[in-house]
Amino acid sequence: MAAPSIARSGFFWKLYGGFLALILVTACLAGWRIDAQVERNTSAALDQSLANTTVLLEELARPAVLHPPAAADFEERIQRLGRSLGTRLTVIAVDGVVLADSEEDPARMENHGERTEIVSARSSGAGSGERRSATTGVRTRYHARAITSDGQLVGFVRAALDVTSIDAQLAEGRWAIALGAALAALVGLLVAWPIARRTTAPLAQLADAADAIARGRHDHPLPAEGEDEVGQLARSFRTMSTELEQRVATLAADRNKVLAILSSMVEGVVAVDVEERVVHMNATAARILRTDAGRSVGRRVWEATRVLEVPRILEDARKSGRECRAEIRLDDAASATSVELFASPLSGASGENVGAVVVLHDVTELRRLEGVRRDFVANVSHELKTPLTAIRGFIETVLDDEAMPRDVERRFLQRIRDQTGRLTALVQDLLTLARIESQEARPELQPIDLVRSVRETVERFAPIAEQKRVTVTARLGDPPLIVAADEEGLRQIVGNLLDNAIKYTPAKGSVEVRLVAHEREVQVEVADTGIGLEPRDLERIFERFYRVDKARSRDLGGTGLGLAIVKHLALTYSGSVSVDSAPGRGSTFRVHLPLCSVTADP
Ligand code: ADP
Repeated sequence: MAAPSIARSGFFWKLYGGFLALILVTACLAGWRIDAQVERNTSAALDQSLANTTVLLEELARPAVLHPPAAADFEERIQRLGRSLGTRLTVIAVDGVVLADSEEDPARMENHGERTEIVSARSSGAGSGERRSATTGVRTRYHARAITSDGQLVGFVRAALDVTSIDAQLAEGRWAIALGAALAALVGLLVAWPIARRTTAPLAQLADAADAIARGRHDHPLPAEGEDEVGQLARSFRTMSTELEQRVATLAADRNKVLAILSSMVEGVVAVDVEERVVHMNATAARILRTDAGRSVGRRVWEATRVLEVPRILEDARKSGRECRAEIRLDDAASATSVELFASPLSGASGENVGAVVVLHDVTELRRLEGVRRDFVANVSHELKTPLTAIRGFIETVLDDEAMPRDVERRFLQRIRDQTGRLTALVQDLLTLARIESQEARPELQPIDLVRSVRETVERFAPIAEQKRVTVTARLGDPPLIVAADEEGLRQIVGNLLDNAIKYTPAKGSVEVRLVAHEREVQVEVADTGIGLEPRDLERIFERFYRVDKARSRDLGGTGLGLAIVKHLALTYSGSVSVDSAPGRGSTFRVHLPLCSVTADP
């Protein structure tokens, strides 16, 4: 048992203080009783001794009192006897006149007839008293006895002792008793110390152990498990500590699991208590709300985040006891985020409200995709409607005018055919896109020699280029370059790029198709000397239906889907696309494809 524990142990000091008080009270009581008894005994012995003396003195004094002339040397005898007994002796006549005194001259002494002890002796034969002597001036104890002769009272004898010396003896005795009591108290205290220590040490140790457990430490030593109550307490305490440790460990493990789940969640989670203080905020929530999770815990939720919809929906859920839902947009200079909020009230074990939790779901990408889909449907509808309206107009014109000349009618029919061609191209491109994007209908990838595929496509476009008076050259190299793709897809990639390059390059311009092989990838480059693109268009050029000049594209038979198809095909082959261009200086479109290690069959 460590000493500091004893010093701090209130129980020890209470017990020891109790011992101390008990010992002191007992010593005082015993001292007081002994002192009283000694005083009583001394007083009784004194009285007895004085009484005995007066019995003897009576016999001695009777003749002198009865026959005063015979008492010539009587006074001297009394003085001698008084000196040898160490007691003052007095003989008094029946009328109170002092006849003889062992210490004073009787002639100078006043009448003693009214002294207390004489009055008592007159009435009852003997009497005592204690007072300061009028003759000697010291505190004196007296005992008087009547002298009778033939039944007649003839005088009194009196013995007296100075009691100051006896008082001094009694005081000395009292000191001895007090010293003895103090010694007994000291011995008692010395004996009580180890007893109190032995009794309180295990309890103090248990108190220290309980303190340590409260601070989460279970390694504090416990008292030995004896058979007494303290031993039983120590045993129960040890069992309780072990169980508590196990439960705390289980709870901590469960809590860590929950925290791990919460922190790895894609959704943000914020939980508050009834006072709207944040009790948990995971990393995702902190990122979405642009705050710090660690510093938010313990603070009011409206202090933790500036997004006021969060405290509002938490309060709604808590007060209504129902789930609440909302969607908010968080805009800042860098980005715009759409967040869906689901708040639920939190209930305690007995169903009482203990707070609320809100789950934040970042739906920015979802909303963007919804927007893309909406735009796509609107674009498709618009693209379909334009040629259909034109076709309907042409047909109605022909039908309404029965006298229309044959050549005019043919021109209308040719326009109808052109518009139908546009519709067909559009539907074909849409189908191609749908096929690329659908998992099931996607063609299987196989090793294909890019050199051969590109060469065939370039050759296919030779008549069109010639017609537009655009020179097309190919720099493909000889060794086969194998990529994982499908034949039709590769043809479409190179075909769409080449088609655009020829379309957007004026007559006398040139187009070059190159294959640039690197260690792991190959670039299909289609460079033209055409009209080029503004920097602002470069970012959006691969979006569906994005066209720099809509009318021009339509006139040239474009659908606005060609580059989107190129991009999606490249992605399907685990590749990517890029473009370099400047207005009036031509464009270079690149498709980056990973090279296969497999060598294709020649
Ligand atoms: P389109 O069918 O209209 O050609 P694309 O998706 O193939 O659609 O191309 C989208 C737009 O990109 C075109 O409308 C055109 O404005 C621009 N574009 C494509 N290729 C070139 C190029 N080689 N030079 C200049 N502009 C181009």
